[in-house]
Amino acid sequence: MRSVKFGRTLAVTLYLLLVLAFAASIGWFALRDGLDRLEEGARADLSLASDQLTGQLQRYRELAVLLASHPTLTPLAAEGGSAEVANALLGKEADSTGSEEIMLLDRTGKVLASSIGSDVGSTDQAGTLYFKRAMQGTIGFHHGVEGANRQRIFLYAVPVFSQAGPVMGAIVIRLDAEKVEATSRGEAQNVFFTDALGVVFVSNRGELLFGQREAQAGVASDVSYPVGLTHPFPAIVAHQFGRHSLWSIDAGPYLPSLALHLTQALPVVDLTGEILLDATPTLHVAELQAATAAALCVIFGALLFVVAERRRALALRLATEARLTAQLERNVAARTRELSTAVDQLRDEVAERLEAEAALKKAQADLIRAGKLSALGQMSAGISHELNQPLMAIRSYAENGTAFIARGQPEIAGENLDRISDLARRMGRIIRNLRAFARQEVEGVSDVDLVGVIDAVLEITQTRMTHEEVTLDYSPPSSPVMVRGGEVRLQQVVLNLVSNALDAMAGRADRRLTLRIVAEGATTRLSVRDTGAGIAEPERMFDPFYSTKEVGQAEGMGLGLSISYAIIESFGGTIAGHNVEGGGAEFTVGLTAVQKSEAA
Ligand code: ADP
Repeated sequence: MRSVKFGRTLAVTLYLLLVLAFAASIGWFALRDGLDRLEEGARADLSLASDQLTGQLQRYRELAVLLASHPTLTPLAAEGGSAEVANALLGKEADSTGSEEIMLLDRTGKVLASSIGSDVGSTDQAGTLYFKRAMQGTIGFHHGVEGANRQRIFLYAVPVFSQAGPVMGAIVIRLDAEKVEATSRGEAQNVFFTDALGVVFVSNRGELLFGQREAQAGVASDVSYPVGLTHPFPAIVAHQFGRHSLWSIDAGPYLPSLALHLTQALPVVDLTGEILLDATPTLHVAELQAATAAALCVIFGALLFVVAERRRALALRLATEARLTAQLERNVAARTRELSTAVDQLRDEVAERLEAEAALKKAQADLIRAGKLSALGQMSAGISHELNQPLMAIRSYAENGTAFIARGQPEIAGENLDRISDLARRMGRIIRNLRAFARQEVEGVSDVDLVGVIDAVLEITQTRMTHEEVTLDYSPPSSPVMVRGGEVRLQQVVLNLVSNALDAMAGRADRRLTLRIVAEGATTRLSVRDTGAGIAEPERMFDPFYSTKEVGQAEGMGLGLSISYAIIESFGGTIAGHNVEGGGAEFTVGLTAVQKSEAA
């Protein structure tokens, strides 16, 4: 994440640098282009101004040349004479051309005639460079400041040739520089003409006049300015931009702070024409173009950035989603594996349970069988007694019968026979019940008559109860009471409860067995109550092999109640036991009642 951020920052920085470079080059080209165009115009303006200056000066020069061969003036130069006529001529010419003064000088430099009459005879010009030039046969030219009012003047000195050829004098024409520059005054550009001393001599900006920069090296000049007239030119820092020269000027409002500077040499008048054009607008345009380009690039870049960011975010989201999906799939696969393992385990457990259940069922069945055997064991003593007693009785009745027949008392013998058959019938019944009890009952539940079951149990235990003098409190219902169960197993349960009750009452003073059948809605309850010592440990009595009876006693395997519990549960019924107030225990078996309509 960090490296991504860093990369992004780097990319943005690089891009911005690139934009900066691009904008800078745009600005550079725009500025160069603008300056090219500015220079084109400036060049033309400067040319125009220069041409104006030189053109005007040229006019005066030509006038001087013309006057140098004037028929009125040449004889005067050659022979001397009255200056009146010449003065008048020169005065007229000066007036008509706007010259300051026109003079005719002889070879020594003395004024022979002048448009200003008072100057005749003056020799002020004698030693000047321009006069010497004229004397050498060429045209002398001069500019400078003259007089108390510091008037700027231009001056031409043209030789006057004699008929024979040599120079005999000169025409000198002076003109006011202000007249020359007046034509270019007030124009927008700053045009000025500088001389070899670096002094601005002509300008359309008054402030620039006499501003002095460095003098041109190695150029002789006959010009000298009065002390205090010149002043330093405004502070300039010159820059070269391509082939253009740009000036930063610190000169207040009358000069542009940034200007394109052009020069044009005017050797004919010993001046250099210069022009300053405000370059600020050009710079602003270039800056604007650069800024626009930069802005466009930045906007484009920002768009690009946003798009890239979006794509990156999308890619990231897709990747995250893909990762999550993969994770989910992995989780699902893991869960599925876990589940299938769990299912396998469950299946194994179910199989184990089924096996355990089968084993339990078998154990239960075995227990029941064992219980039966034990019950049989219990009964065998009673039964042998039961069968033994009638057998003994039958024997004695039979022996007596034989004796009575021998004594000739057949009626009494007949009574004995009746008793014998009664006893035999009773024995048969006992045996039948035993057989039924020993019978293996097919598992399952059907409708059973509870009254019949109780009758059978009482039949088996009748002899024991009579023997042990137990009072039976039971009034059997007149009609069958049908319940859900298995006949033999239910008989086993009831026999077990009755046997336990008899066991509990053995050797006690009060011996009363109470049986009750109570219908309670869908349940029919049978309660077996005794007047024994009560249950010693009610919470343990249903445990297998729990017995308080001594081993070797008639009963005492501790299986009776646990088997009864299992049997009643298999019928979907309940079995419970508790001690009763006033002594004794009561066991209650709840069974599903068979509804009358079903029983019918
Ligand atoms: P067993 O009769 O072989 O001892 P049972 O499972 O039938 O086995 O009975 C377990 C124990 O429950 C008995 O030993 C006895 O202590 C107690 N018990 C059962 N019925 C009664 C009863 N009617 N009165 C008192 N104790 C009883």
